[in-house]
Amino acid sequence: MDFTLTPEIEDIRMRIRDFVAEHVIPLECHPGNFDHHGMISEAALAGLRIKAKAEGLWALQTPTEHGGAGVGFVGMAACYEEMARSPFGPVVFNSAPPDDGNMMLLEKVLPTAELKDIWLQPIIDGKVRSAFAMTEPMPGGGSDPSAMLTTAVRKGDVWVVHGRKWFITGAEGAKHVVLVARTSNDQRKGLTAFLYNADQPGAHIERRIPIMGPEEHGGHCEIVYDGLEIPDENRLLEVGDGLKITQIRLGPARLTHCMRWLGMAKRALEIAGEYVRERQSFGAS
Ligand SMILES: Cc1cc2nc3c(=O)[nH]c(=O)nc-3n(C[C@H](O)[C@H](O)[C@H](O)COP(=O)(O)OP(=O)(O)OC[C@H]3O[C@@H](n4cnc5c(N)ncnc54)[C@H](O)[C@@H]3O)c2cc1C
Repeated sequence: MDFTLTPEIEDIRMRIRDFVAEHVIPLECHPGNFDHHGMISEAALAGLRIKAKAEGLWALQTPTEHGGAGVGFVGMAACYEEMARSPFGPVVFNSAPPDDGNMMLLEKVLPTAELKDIWLQPIIDGKVRSAFAMTEPMPGGGSDPSAMLTTAVRKGDVWVVHGRKWFITGAEGAKHVVLVARTSNDQRKGLTAFLYNADQPGAHIERRIPIMGPEEHGGHCEIVYDGLEIPDENRLLEVGDGLKITQIRLGPARLTHCMRWLGMAKRALEIAGEYVRERQSFGAS
């Protein structure tokens, strides 16, 4: 397999590397640039996002007609590694989870330009944030989504949702939420995916679950559904296609998560190497 990058991708990769070195990494030195959860503060982020957009280093994973760079999976792999040399990096380029994966999912499954304008474009433009709500507390669905307990019951033109999700990244502050819920007891076709606007009544965040290390904006939250009503027109694909949606959503996310961690691990190794070279102990270096 040929892993050579095209000159276009290599150019974007190097520009991201330079941008991160020049504008992002220096911010890590000042506590005032962090929010309360170890992530870049919204104030520091805003200016950098304008700069990244102006340089054409924005939402690389989305097609050019929507304002992205359409770099494809190979390009994403190379560029995500570079942007994640700083934990602040991915969100600066609008390539942080969960928006990153949600944008790719919505680009693929929303059937019309009109629906993309409503649900996808504001995420690409960085005007709203999004979340993907699948995992549930025990005994609900986790690695095994077929154990899902949250239900969506059809009543006329709406689906009424009851249940609970947790570890939902970015939920605090997210406006566009993809939800996977049980719509029948069929083993393979029992789940269906929907889109809802977090301003609607019937769903609330019960708590933000702490994790180790910096948290994405909006944290990892537990959400309670107590009668959320979702119009049938906000269903994604067909009734029973919920498992398919999770595969479309989570497949590319395996690649992008790994590349981000690789970038961060390389930087950590470089920092450790520099320290080891300079460290004096027991009279020797
Ligand atoms: C930081 C973070 C962010 C997250 N963000 C989101 C999000 O945005 N949206 C969302 O929906 N979810 C999110 N999750 C949840 C994540 O998708 C789940 O944690 C994951 O799917 C595993 O489910 P679980 O935690 O219930 O583990 P479990 O299903 O309880 O599994 C626990 C362990 O047992 C192993 N295991 C399970 N079954 C078997 C078996 N049959 N044989 C052998 N081993 C087995 C698993 O591999 C795992 O190591 C997030 C989780 C974290 C930690």
